Amino acid sequence: HSIAKPCLSFAHFGFDQDLLNAVIKAGYTEPSAIQRQAIPVALSGRDIIGIAKTGSGKTAAFVLPMLIHIMDQEELVKGDGPIGLVLAPTRELAVQIYQETRKFAKAYGLKVAAVYGGASKLEQFKDLRSGTVEILVATPGRLIDMIKMKATNLKRVSYLVLDEADRMFDLGFEFLARSVTDDPIRINVGTTGQANEDITQIVHVFDEEEMKWDWLIRRLAGFCVEGSVIIFVGRKDAVDLLSANLQKSNFDCAALHGDLQQYEREKVLRDFKANKVKVLVSTDVAARGLDIKTVKNVINYDIARDIDSHTHRVGRTGRAGEKGTAYTLITQKEDRFAGELVRHLETSGQVVTPELLNLAMK
Ligand code: ADP
Ligand code: MG
Repeated sequence: HSIAKPCLSFAHFGFDQDLLNAVIKAGYTEPSAIQRQAIPVALSGRDIIGIAKTGSGKTAAFVLPMLIHIMDQEELVKGDGPIGLVLAPTRELAVQIYQETRKFAKAYGLKVAAVYGGASKLEQFKDLRSGTVEILVATPGRLIDMIKMKATNLKRVSYLVLDEADRMFDLGFEFLARSVTDDPIRINVGTTGQANEDITQIVHVFDEEEMKWDWLIRRLAGFCVEGSVIIFVGRKDAVDLLSANLQKSNFDCAALHGDLQQYEREKVLRDFKANKVKVLVSTDVAARGLDIKTVKNVINYDIARDIDSHTHRVGRTGRAGEKGTAYTLITQKEDRFAGELVRHLETSGQVVTPELLNLAMK
């Protein structure tokens, strides 16, 4: 059977005026590539595996058709569980998707709820029970808790999204995806594994671990003039240490990692998004999905555990067509990663320096 054709304009998706207004209000003038391709296919009712670079608007690509799908239901049975369910791998991402979804769901007066770990179960329970929730955004563990507490059920779910699906698969969701997708259409914008080309990637090779600090302290004030900065560090204790050292050097910075209380995590991210804090030092908990417009520079102070997570860390800048720069600090002993990095930079149209190439060929 035929596949729905892409649309080049929001006006051609068949959205009603309420939804079009919400899209305009969000500041979207034309659909991104993944939205052009995926929205008509999703509206036709087909299952989708959607792949596109970081910052290219995948959220709205699944949220907008979800709203129409929900409005198309013949009867909305009050008091039942959600119709649209979005699963995300981290709490912060769940919160962000919730906020993004609410912006559009307002157009139809649909209720959106979010449940995620670390926050009050009682509050989330009450929120789910307080009325009909049409859309639920959740991290997996807390969703299961809520189902066990009978705060909600999944009987009505007919539109399921796994955001950051490859990460969700790592967390054990591949079996679910396989069993519930029906003849999915794969939409792949760009080359798989290719990083966003709006981001300039610069790699610095150091002889000694300690030299990374000297580089950072020399450059950071300049980066802060350009915009916000995210510094990725390998371990939670190293996040605290680097953040404390930067504070001693009078940088306006905050630490984010999984050992903090959830309210602290949310406050740190809120302050960072509101530009109250210029520098965020984080583990990979901030590597996936977070959309913070002010971030101009990303620093991989420690290399990522693999190229995939490198791509996602780098993708915290260069959102929605903006430019950004990502610096990766690598030491002589990390020659294996250097090899993968060279291939990654080449497929992403980036410059590979002779010193990195040397390290990769060691
Ligand atoms: P992805 O999930 O692909 O990494 P997001 O969905 O987080 O990207 O979107 C990145 C940014 O682009 C967000 O700030 C979002 O509001 C914005 N955005 C999405 N679609 C459009 C569009 N059509 N026009 C302008 N901005 C958009
Ligand atoms: Mg995303």
